[in-house]
Amino acid sequence: MAKKAAKNNSCPCQSGLVFSQCCAPFLNSNSAILPETAEQLMRSRYCAYVLHNSHYLLNTWHPEHRPENLIFENMPPENSPGQWLGLKIKSTHMGLKEDDRGEVHFIARYKINGKAFRLEEKSRFVKINDQWFYTTGQIS
Ligand SMILES: [Zn+2]
Repeated sequence: MAKKAAKNNSCPCQSGLVFSQCCAPFLNSNSAILPETAEQLMRSRYCAYVLHNSHYLLNTWHPEHRPENLIFENMPPENSPGQWLGLKIKSTHMGLKEDDRGEVHFIARYKINGKAFRLEEKSRFVKINDQWFYTTGQIS
């Protein structure tokens, strides 16, 4: 396997920031830090998919839409960021600090057994008591 030097600390969400200064504080269940925007939540949930962190995904899923449990099928195996080829935020609508709902349109690309896949979704988020939750997504 080829090593990806210097990429080890970068956030899986490809913000260009290091993980510890991007999504890691949200994913850390011991920290009380919450995403301030819908995009931040979307990015951290993407990281949770990369890391197979079902706890975080379920906790940030609106209770009315949340599945009972989460199986990471049809996805790259646990903690294999190299299999995730990219996350591109196409657009966001609302979802800022002062909003209580928002939408993030993104494209995620990944590889399973050498085959490339692409997921394009418009994710919807709502904020309840200062905490953002994912509700539903429209796959295009
Ligand atoms: Zn990030």
